[in-house]
Amino acid sequence: MSESPFLAGHDWPDLLPGWVWLCGAGPGDPGLLTLHAARALQQADVIVYDALCNTAILDLAGPETEQIYAGKRGGKPSAIQRDISLRLVDLARAGKRVLRLKGGDPFVFGRGGEEAQTLVQHGVPIRIVPGITAGIGGLAYAGIPVTHRDVNQTVAFVTGHDQSGNAPGAVNWTALAQAAHVLVIYMGMKHIEKITSELIAGGRDPNDPVGVVTQASLPDQQVLETTLARCAADVVTANLAPPAVICVGRAVLMRQTLDWQSLAAGVPPRSLDPLDRGRPAEAS
Ligand code: SAH
Repeated sequence: MSESPFLAGHDWPDLLPGWVWLCGAGPGDPGLLTLHAARALQQADVIVYDALCNTAILDLAGPETEQIYAGKRGGKPSAIQRDISLRLVDLARAGKRVLRLKGGDPFVFGRGGEEAQTLVQHGVPIRIVPGITAGIGGLAYAGIPVTHRDVNQTVAFVTGHDQSGNAPGAVNWTALAQAAHVLVIYMGMKHIEKITSELIAGGRDPNDPVGVVTQASLPDQQVLETTLARCAADVVTANLAPPAVICVGRAVLMRQTLDWQSLAAGVPPRSLDPLDRGRPAEAS
């Protein structure tokens, strides 16, 4: 791969026949792929990809590469999940170089752990290639730092769905409302009303800033800045649709300074000190 941008001298692993690599595809922008994922795209005989993978990324694959769409759309997710996992086993056993490409990071709310477990249980060799998860990289594309020294020492990643598709009963929203300065909610749009009311009922300030980022890192990315109390209504008014990551906490205010996409388009920052520190950022 002499013409490739991959660093010479590094011991690059190859995707070998009979192996499955579970790779993160990142939130959408192809530039957010890892180099391991980009190489695997070129080496794979077959790519099994999810609904949330930007299909533009598949253009990096060779012309002969088989591409299998494995998105789940309603129906019986667990049965379909089983089919996907077993399909990966079959492909590996047929001696293919298999790339399982999943949106974001394969081990973050993506069932990558289950698929990997099935593969190991069937004796299939695997490699995990982490990706940039939407709850970190997607927020960064909106100019929201998921941690900021003046805001949070904690961040919690939460799913707004449980396995049945309901708001997750296993989440103690009151504890969460009080424990984590910043909450990053995946799959939260369907139950946004319930989630935000539970957080307020649990003691979270109704005026806490909220950022909703849809289609993060893609050309049609949209960002809504609102508050916990207004969030559910504002999502409807703005006509926002999933996929979206929802960030709750004062880190969202930093977007007033750090909305780098607007800055690049010539829009001046709305504030240079959105947290009212009263001193330059470099002063401790
Ligand atoms: N493994 C993925 C998450 C899969 S769960 C990851 O690490 O990012 C699916 C959820 O991820 C979506 O409902 C949404 O909350 C979030 N998500 C994934 N891609 C996104 C994108 N481009 N923009 C906004 N949210 C995204």
